[in-house]
Amino acid sequence: MAVLGIPILEDKYPVTMDMWPLQAKEFNRIYKFYEHLREGRFTTTRCRTCGHVAYPPRVICPECYSEDLEWIDLPKRGKVLNFTEEVRGVPLGFESPLIHAWIDLGEGSPIKRILSRIINCPVGKLQEGSEVQLVVFEVPSHPIEVKKDTKWVERVFFAFEPVEK
Ligand SMILES: [Zn+2]
Repeated sequence: MAVLGIPILEDKYPVTMDMWPLQAKEFNRIYKFYEHLREGRFTTTRCRTCGHVAYPPRVICPECYSEDLEWIDLPKRGKVLNFTEEVRGVPLGFESPLIHAWIDLGEGSPIKRILSRIINCPVGKLQEGSEVQLVVFEVPSHPIEVKKDTKWVERVFFAFEPVEK
């Protein structure tokens, strides 16, 4: 089971400081995205009516407003186009360096580029053109009320990491 709350706050759950999405079916209509992450799949939604592929996944097609969407897989590897590396003053709950990158998923991908956090990467290692791959990790669980009981919902999230460490 994941650690409760933000680790630095030692088992407390301050909801206003929770930086991770609520992933339970009861709260989130794209909960399947997170179920797929658990299976090691990186997915998004494609509209069955007009074919538009959206990322992040949607519950309504942004092009034609259809709700008839299906899940498709995206590549789990890509190349760094450019990035930022935040070393000092990173937000509570994150470790330094906090790296974000635009990642090119390649010609064959219906989504050409995505913005993602890069983890497992020391300061100064990442370069434009570095190859990165999907990594799924546990994040603190969150409480939901189920018939007067509190149930803790396990959560995962994703980032990318350098292919060669
Ligand atoms: Zn559509």
